[in-house]
Amino acid sequence: MCGYLLARAGVPVTVLEKHADFLRDFRGDTIHPSTLELLRELGILEQFLARPHQEVSHAEGELGDVRVRVADFTHLPTHCRFVAFMPQWEFLNFIAGQARGLPTFTLRMETEALRVVRTADRVTGVVVRSASGEEQLDARLVIAADGRASVLRDSMGIAVDDLGAPMDVLWFQLRFRSGDTPAVLGRVAQGQVLVRLYRGDYWQCALIIRKGTFDTLRRAGLDAFRKRVALLARRADTDEIQTWEDVRLLTVKVDRIRSWASPGILFIGDAAHAMSPIGGVGINLAIQDAVASVNLLADPLRSRTPSLAELRRVQRRRGFPTWATQALQLFIQNRAIDPLLRSGKTPGVPMILSLAQRFPVLQRIPARVIGVGFRPEHIRVGFDRTLVSGRARPEA
Ligand SMILES: Cc1cc2nc3c(=O)[nH]c(=O)nc-3n(C[C@H](O)[C@H](O)[C@H](O)COP(=O)(O)OP(=O)(O)OC[C@H]3O[C@@H](n4cnc5c(N)ncnc54)[C@H](O)[C@@H]3O)c2cc1C
Repeated sequence: MCGYLLARAGVPVTVLEKHADFLRDFRGDTIHPSTLELLRELGILEQFLARPHQEVSHAEGELGDVRVRVADFTHLPTHCRFVAFMPQWEFLNFIAGQARGLPTFTLRMETEALRVVRTADRVTGVVVRSASGEEQLDARLVIAADGRASVLRDSMGIAVDDLGAPMDVLWFQLRFRSGDTPAVLGRVAQGQVLVRLYRGDYWQCALIIRKGTFDTLRRAGLDAFRKRVALLARRADTDEIQTWEDVRLLTVKVDRIRSWASPGILFIGDAAHAMSPIGGVGINLAIQDAVASVNLLADPLRSRTPSLAELRRVQRRRGFPTWATQALQLFIQNRAIDPLLRSGKTPGVPMILSLAQRFPVLQRIPARVIGVGFRPEHIRVGFDRTLVSGRARPEA
């Protein structure tokens, strides 16, 4: 997204992707209303929504047998008042497709960044490995968006502050059956939490487990696991889980680095801050970072390397939304999820959720935090803003 926006703003940009494609199973598939709003500002929303996706306008939960509505996206101050679910590779293929036609955009697949290149005290490029061997790429600016296991971060020797997470997540699929309601649905029972995301003909399921207990679960056997899932999903059977291969472990991490910028390099997205899966907002935060970076840096990048002070403006803009979102996630995971997983009990409906059932207007608050987030970004450069409802065109 950052590469696409920079290229639209006339900045020569090379995006490196170490894999041959964007295909990753069970990655973040949520496209938030704020991201849809950006696509609208770019004039590509209609094309995007023509691709297969699911739209979900409410998030609901079940505490034991009591059903509660947690979030209502239908009142958001955005044009799309729903979360779109689309596999991440579809989304990335779409964005890459938009970018490919731009004269200043290059996407190099199967090209892995190995380490930064420094000249004097500044990063001036990266060493990459591709089918043709190792080579050095020089750049005015390196934007490290290489995810939560960022090798560029390691190569800079940057320490990561681990904020801790008491849980891991197991991902798997269950069939969507007639009678099921399309929604985002969480169920809490007997100290366990299952979140189901409607994905057309199947549910994408996330079972939250105590950190480091996956091996214990595996030792207890697949039958015991299936029974646990059947209880939470209220099903007689879950025979679609046939082997442990059908179950993927996400080791939850919540972390961040202190300084996103050093001379010649900027860290954004998961490379700067891995988010907890609570609220499913990692993609939103990463995209918002990309937009803010382009808004703040496209102008200097057209002619020169941005100064360190200019690079730091990105963190000044996005640091607060990151901190506030992580603070909320930490509060929920440490004050609600951890005690719940330890208790083995089915909790009653907390006061805040009871209130939200009596006063549905309160359901708009979590919808706003998840769907839009703190300090939403807008496309500020590279476009004629009068064309935002139609197809946008680059600046001269
Ligand atoms: C299992 C799972 C489920 C998730 N579910 C959700 C969800 O439902 N909703 C949500 O909002 N978020 C979710 N997230 C989080 C979300 O995927 C991330 O927050 C988001 O993708 C971060 O974007 P990013 O661009 O910073 O990093 P990434 O998406 O990790 O992208 C980094 C990219 O860089 C490439 N790369 C890495 N290293 C190199 C290198 N050295 N050289 C070249 N290329 C490299 C990788 O192949 C990858 O394509 C989930 C994460 C996981 C792991």
